[in-house]
Amino acid sequence: MKAGNATLSGYGTTIFEAMSALAREHTAVNLGQGFPDDRGPLAVRRAAADYVVDGHNQYPPMMGMPGLRQAVAAHDRRFYGLEVDWQTEVLITSGATEALIDCFLGLLEVGDEVVMFEPAYDTYAPVIRRLGAIPRSVRLAPPAWSLPREELAAAFSPRTKLVLLNSPMNPAGKVFRRDELELLARLIEQHDAIAVCDEVYEHLVFGDAQHVPLMTLPGMRDRALRIGSAGKTFALTGWKVGYITAPAALLRPVTKAHQFVTFTTPPNLQHAVALGLGFDDAYFHGLGAPLARSRDRLAAGLTALDLPVLPGEATYFLVIDVERWLRPGEDDIAFCRRLVVDAGVVLIPMSAFYEASPPGHLVRACFCKEDSTIDAALLRLQTWVSRSR
Ligand code: PMP
Ligand code: GLN
Repeated sequence: MKAGNATLSGYGTTIFEAMSALAREHTAVNLGQGFPDDRGPLAVRRAAADYVVDGHNQYPPMMGMPGLRQAVAAHDRRFYGLEVDWQTEVLITSGATEALIDCFLGLLEVGDEVVMFEPAYDTYAPVIRRLGAIPRSVRLAPPAWSLPREELAAAFSPRTKLVLLNSPMNPAGKVFRRDELELLARLIEQHDAIAVCDEVYEHLVFGDAQHVPLMTLPGMRDRALRIGSAGKTFALTGWKVGYITAPAALLRPVTKAHQFVTFTTPPNLQHAVALGLGFDDAYFHGLGAPLARSRDRLAAGLTALDLPVLPGEATYFLVIDVERWLRPGEDDIAFCRRLVVDAGVVLIPMSAFYEASPPGHLVRACFCKEDSTIDAALLRLQTWVSRSR
């Protein structure tokens, strides 16, 4: 029989799925895949359940239910001062994942180049390559993950169609600063390019860090597509409700992709997310502080165990430098596999976020967990550390 698509066949099962399966197999504490212990707001969960039981279970409108599109537009006005026409500038998707793929399908041609940043979320490059487009990755260097300005400028070419920006950034926990965004905006304008902005962690930002959507910078309103996810904003990662805000001219081709990919998203979930997006400011502003406390708890415990942590100011994730714990010739993937078996703790090797030449000594830990989960992981690591010395 003829083979499946060569590009996609070349990739393994995603690291998140693989490591969660290992966690189940070894009853390990799972600080791998990014999902919170928090069950999400009861009112939102209740609204979804009631809507199903009340019988609203047929296809909603293709672009999304009006109530949710209005709620996304109101959210964008409230938090970012964006004036958005909910009828032509908002699209509801089945998660940010579908939103991203709709953007790639709707905007890219074979041979187009996509300027993006490594470490990069694992969905991006395979899909871009599958479409015959070419990722041009700019590497951010740990520990600060700052933007190498000359390399960024050099990554652009006349064939640059898209810039793919994930801020706040998984896995680095970096929030792009305004001056970095300004540089990016200048380059995008100079090359007449389009920005796809993965902002799923928009409200999960700590301390003084502030998330600024690229779309709010001068010149970017007409060039940017902004992607959010109810999975992150309401701690409901299994729901897969995403939203795109974009100028109508850019959203139109993306909507064409959506109509052939999923066409629509479950109505009860849309209804419930609309309710959630209407919560008062305190809900959204209150999302960062408990996560920052969890990050600090995990970071302090890891540091005390001689597992140094890189700075991060957002998302569900922190990065650990495991250099001193690697066996000769061992990379981050082998290390994470050994850790599951020997320590009973699951982490994610950072090489999952690189197409080639990953750092090899960095791993990602997820901290959106109850204190008891974090403490259980630390206790297991403590036992492992004392055995390994
Ligand atoms: N982008 C990034 C950076 C992510 O970390 C994730 C993981 N949830 C997604 C997109 C996908 O979001 P969703 O679950 O809404 O598809
Ligand atoms: N975004 C989640 C993470 O980075 C995982 C999503 C997935 O499992 N595909 O851990």
